[in-house]
Amino acid sequence: MAKIEKTNDEWKKLLSAEQYYVTREHGTEPPFKGPHQEEERSGDFNCVCCGNKLFRTDAKFDSGTGWPSYFQPASPDAVLEHKDRSMLIFVRTEIRCADCDAHLGHVFDDGPEPTGLRYCMNGHALDFKPD
Ligand SMILES: [Zn+2]
Repeated sequence: MAKIEKTNDEWKKLLSAEQYYVTREHGTEPPFKGPHQEEERSGDFNCVCCGNKLFRTDAKFDSGTGWPSYFQPASPDAVLEHKDRSMLIFVRTEIRCADCDAHLGHVFDDGPEPTGLRYCMNGHALDFKPD
């Protein structure tokens, strides 16, 4: 499937200021301020830009970081990894939506079983749909 591409002006019309900052300008929302941290209902967390299904509640856990955290994506091809060299000291792995390249957050290797991964997401990049 072809990537969803829009101009910055088109994205701005579709998204809130916070959503645009996070997903299109690679921003990070302040911890404990974004949506979905307390969400415990069963459902899907979809890309706020294009609706791609990214995460499920059954992979969500309380990381204590102030950002919604998951130990795996809804499917292996839902997200893409990019090496993020914006911090010079170490390389982080950025997570983007596979369908529209929205910046979602980063993945770290200090998560719980069964994967040991912690997908640390910006709540403003996600749209929750209860089952
Ligand atoms: Zn997307």
